[in-house]
Amino acid sequence: MNSTAPKRTDTRVLVSGASISGLTIAYWLVRYGFAVTMVERAPHLRPGGHALDVRGPALEVAERMAILGTMRDRSTKLTGMAVVDSDGQEIFRSTESTLTGGRLDSADVEIMRDDLCHVLHEAVGDQVEYIFGDSIASLTQDESGVDVTFVTAAPRRFELVIGADGLYSRVRRIAFGPDEQFLRAFGDLYVATFGMPNFLGLERWQVMYQQPDSVGALVMGLRKDVSARTYLGFSAPKGIDYGFRDIDAQKRLLADRVAGAGWVIPQIVEHMLRATDFHFYSLSQVRMNSWSRGRIVLVGDAGYAVSLGTGQGTTVAMVGAYVLAGELATHKDDLVGGIAAYEDGLRAYVIRNQDIALEQNAQPDEPTDEGETAPTGGIPDFGALTLPFALKNYQDRWFRCRPG
Ligand SMILES: Cc1cc2nc3c(=O)[nH]c(=O)nc-3n(C[C@H](O)[C@H](O)[C@H](O)COP(=O)(O)OP(=O)(O)OC[C@H]3O[C@@H](n4cnc5c(N)ncnc54)[C@H](O)[C@@H]3O)c2cc1C
Repeated sequence: MNSTAPKRTDTRVLVSGASISGLTIAYWLVRYGFAVTMVERAPHLRPGGHALDVRGPALEVAERMAILGTMRDRSTKLTGMAVVDSDGQEIFRSTESTLTGGRLDSADVEIMRDDLCHVLHEAVGDQVEYIFGDSIASLTQDESGVDVTFVTAAPRRFELVIGADGLYSRVRRIAFGPDEQFLRAFGDLYVATFGMPNFLGLERWQVMYQQPDSVGALVMGLRKDVSARTYLGFSAPKGIDYGFRDIDAQKRLLADRVAGAGWVIPQIVEHMLRATDFHFYSLSQVRMNSWSRGRIVLVGDAGYAVSLGTGQGTTVAMVGAYVLAGELATHKDDLVGGIAAYEDGLRAYVIRNQDIALEQNAQPDEPTDEGETAPTGGIPDFGALTLPFALKNYQDRWFRCRPG
C-alpha cells in the first residue's frame, strides 16, 4: 500500500479505481476543492490494454484539462492495417483506416490505454491521496456520509463514494447487487489484451486474423523495439463460467479455446501464457436504471460500459466523469442533488451510445472465399458514430462563485 496525504480538507470523496474515469474525475474534483482519496486494487497504475479512442466531446474535456497536446504526442500514430489468412497472406489492407481507430485522417486521438492513464495521472498530480493495492470491503451510508471499510486500510468516513472501478465494479456489487443484474453480454465474445514481443516486426501497423468460428487475434506494433499489444478472443454462444480474478485459469481457458487456430496464434498463446499485463473480459455493456444509491455513485464502465462495437467507451467515461464532477461542484451543498443532475444530463447520451454499439455489433463481416472473415463491409466510420454532447462550462461558474 502506498499513500500520500491529501492537500485539501474540504468535502471528502473516495474514488474506487484509478483508470480513465477515476483519474478524470479526480482531476476535476481536486480543482473544484474536494479532498479526493483514490483506492486502486492494483499495486500501482494498472498497466495493459490495447488502444483506446478519445473522440468528440472527450477531446474537449481533454482540452479543458490541458492534456490534449500530450495525448496527441503519445498517440499510436498508426499508418494502417492488414487482414491475413491462416497462412499469413494478406487478404485486405488499408492505409486510410484501422479497425481500432477508424479513419487515420480524423481528429480523434487513439492512444494506448496505459499511456492515457499516465497522462491523466500526471495531470492529477500529487493533490490526491492514493491507496494502491487495496479495495473497498463494505459501504454503510447515512444522510451525511458513507462509512467505508477497506480490505487492508483502516475504516474511514467520506461524504461521497464514486465507483470508477470498471466492468466488474466492486462498488456496484456492494451497493447495487450482483453483476448478472447489470451486465449485458455482447455477441458472446470474450477477449484478452496483453503485451508480447513484437515478433511480427510491426511499426505503427496492425494485423488481424479471424476465423469463421470467431477465434481471432489483432496485433498492433508501434515500434520494432517496443512490445506489441494483442487482442486474442473467441466466441462462446452458450457463455462461459470463469473467475474474473483468476488470471491463470483465464489464460488456460483462452489457450484451450483457441487451440488449433491458424496464423501465428500458437506463438501468440505462448507469449500470452507469460504475459504480466493480461486482462480478460467478456464484451458486455452495463445497463442500469440508476447510477446512484444516495451518496454512492458510479461513473464510466462501472455504471454504463458501452463495449467495443463503436470504441466509444473511453469517450463516454471521460465525458461522464467531467459531468459528474461539474454537477457535484455546482451542488456542493447538496451532493445528492448534484448526482441527480449528473444522471439527468448524461443518461440520454449514454443510452444512445450503447444502442449504437449494439446496432454496430449486429452487422457481421463478410466471409472471404477462404473462409476467414475480412471487414469487406467496411471499417466502421467511427466519426459518424460519435455523438455530440454539449459540455457545460462548470469551471467558470464554480470559480466565479468561489469565496475569496
Ligand atoms: C487492464 C485493462 C485493460 C483494458 N484494455 C482495454 C482494451 O484493450 N480495449 C478497450 O476498449 N478497453 C479496455 N479496457 C477498458 C477501458 O479502459 C474502459 O472501457 C474505458 O476506458 C472506461 O474506463 P473506466 O476507468 O471506467 O474503467 P477501467 O479502465 O476498466 O478501470 C477500472 C479501474 O478500477 C480498478 N479496479 C477494479 N476493481 C477494483 C476494486 N475492487 N477496487 C479498486 N480498484 C478496482 C481497475 O484496476 C482499473 O484501474 C481495459 C481496462 C483495464 C482495467
